[in-house]
Amino acid sequence: MTILISGGTVVTASGTLDADVLVAGEKIAAVLGRAVTGDADPKAPASPAAVAADRVIDATGKYVLPGGIDVHTHMEMPFGGTSSVDTFETGTRAAAWGGTTTIVDFAVQAKGTSLLATLDKWHAKADGNCAIDYGFHMIVSDVNDTTLKEMDACIAAGVNSFKMFMAYPGVFYATDGEILLAMQQAARSGATVMMHAENGIAIDQLVAQALAAGRTDPVNHGLTRPPELEGEATGRAITLAKVANCPLYIVHLSARQALEAVAEARDTGQNVFAETCPQYLYLSLDDLARPDFEGAKFVASPPLRTKDHLDSLWRGLRTNDLSVVSTDHCPFCFKDQKELGRGDFSKIPNGMPGVEHRMDLLHAGVAAGQLTLPRWVEVASTTPARMFGLYPRKGVIAAGSDADIVIYDPAARQTLSATTHHMNVDYSAYEGLEVTGQVVTTLSRGRPVIDDGAYQGKPGDGAFLPRGLNQYLL
Ligand SMILES: [Zn+2]
Repeated sequence: MTILISGGTVVTASGTLDADVLVAGEKIAAVLGRAVTGDADPKAPASPAAVAADRVIDATGKYVLPGGIDVHTHMEMPFGGTSSVDTFETGTRAAAWGGTTTIVDFAVQAKGTSLLATLDKWHAKADGNCAIDYGFHMIVSDVNDTTLKEMDACIAAGVNSFKMFMAYPGVFYATDGEILLAMQQAARSGATVMMHAENGIAIDQLVAQALAAGRTDPVNHGLTRPPELEGEATGRAITLAKVANCPLYIVHLSARQALEAVAEARDTGQNVFAETCPQYLYLSLDDLARPDFEGAKFVASPPLRTKDHLDSLWRGLRTNDLSVVSTDHCPFCFKDQKELGRGDFSKIPNGMPGVEHRMDLLHAGVAAGQLTLPRWVEVASTTPARMFGLYPRKGVIAAGSDADIVIYDPAARQTLSATTHHMNVDYSAYEGLEVTGQVVTTLSRGRPVIDDGAYQGKPGDGAFLPRGLNQYLL
């Protein structure tokens, strides 16, 4: 099967190009530059290949992008006695609707279990169920001699990024000593440690004080996790990584103080990288303070910050101190799940839905002048591919790469809403927000997944992606 995507503007991390894209089977066969307007008869076939293609998709007026890569999702993840509500099937389908063609999800080691058994468990959840390709990171929550040895086996199995937590004492929390040991182990192979950087020990004291004083509303989730405690933990993680000589990737960075710590480390040439998420670019503590328990919809950790942090994060994206935008998609329904925390904000499941709208919300940033078009593609696709060892198979429109391609209409208008989204969750964090731009077609390895306004894929189309090492190491 060959497909010619003709007439569109190819957008890559390095610029835009008026070109047609020929897909043969699962791969991109050629990127064919077009004559500049006026040089040739516009009705003539764009290239000889047009004649040979089984199907021609007219992308006139549309962008042709490498498929989005969301390196931070939590499908069907256990948390606080409940589980995030998107399965690998529903979550990857929603991702495809939004122009994301690869996710990297987190396998979660429970204390007392092995990393390899954990990996098997996550394969059992995902294999045969995904609509798009997927990989895994490993959450290490129990550091011991066995676990440390198993990290090498995970790397051999294509999982070479290990997430640790300075937050959530008693659950995922690791001490500084445990973090150092895991970093030293990762460093031997060039693997990356990913860090949830918040000072969970101090936060737990603030949470206890708030509850004792009767401050139980959702806004207190944000007030008890001040940005200084994200900044402090980020700096500490950077120091530990420096001592261990280990590549470090700060996940879901939300606070200016944390960004400053990352920028300072990067200026010295340390292998420190960071991502942020759309919710930290668009939403704020004001949303956590919405009345009638509505704020619970916005409970995630780190919390939404005051509005003065937002501009810093957009700037960080432009200066590359923030290199990636992922979603931390971890949806819990308002009804019955978020409601577990009525009267006690600390019992609200932590997480927000978002896998479907990352590309759109970042394109809204392009429309608002916050990002250039190539930078949009870079932070949403190309850099995630290089950071997590998927490039050039993913993250680029080039001959030989997987034909993960999104045809995007930059002029379409859409209103984000729970009534129209495809995520398996009963609310939208962006209910009623009108944005410019929308996915028209999503191809995953040459197969139309979203096409003609409908989902055309099926569970099991997506394949597991063993990943290589971070390609940005200095
Ligand atoms: Zn997360």
